Amino acid sequence: MINLILFGPPGSGKGTQAAKLVDKYQLLHISTGDLFRYEIGNSTPLGLEAKSYMDRGMLVPDSVTIGMLRNKVEANPDVAGYIFDGFPRTIPQSEALNALMGEKGQRISKLIMLQVSDEELVERLKERGKTSGRPDDANEEVIRKRIDVYKAETSPVFDFYAEYGRSIKINGVGGIEEIFDRLCAEIDSL
Ligand code: AMP
Repeated sequence: MINLILFGPPGSGKGTQAAKLVDKYQLLHISTGDLFRYEIGNSTPLGLEAKSYMDRGMLVPDSVTIGMLRNKVEANPDVAGYIFDGFPRTIPQSEALNALMGEKGQRISKLIMLQVSDEELVERLKERGKTSGRPDDANEEVIRKRIDVYKAETSPVFDFYAEYGRSIKINGVGGIEEIFDRLCAEIDSL
């Protein structure tokens, strides 16, 4: 099995690249952001709770996020592997993911970070906000807050997997195909 963490700040292209990787490698794409937006769309209690954090650019509490992720993984046991997108975003989430993979006799194969400068992220997210319908893309203050939260709370996850020698960075700037080729080169060398 190939179990990837597609990592990087908001707007670094994780979702775009995950969709392409799924086609090529037949992996299950799990985006916690998408799962939360699905819950919000259905006005579930989980969705309503998540929305109050998401609209402010803050992280949804670990207990909520980890429980939702676990349900999704357990509901899809027979897959060729997983692409985790937007998860883990904290150290407790990383520990929970390792435990979950361990229960399946699996582990994370690689964490791949897409590197993009802050100013480019802000420009991309403002542009995406024109069509995404996402409240958290619509306001520059919230966009910058999400980047700050990434630096403070999420970037340590890179180091967490680096300790196992499994974190790498690739250049996340360029054409979609160009970046996809960089990712595939890493995955094919696993
Ligand atoms: P994303 O679609 O990955 O950009 O996530 C959008 C928002 O959903 C984030 O800004 C957080 O509020 C929330 N979210 C998504 N994934 C997580 C996670 N793993 N932990 C906590 N909050 C999350």
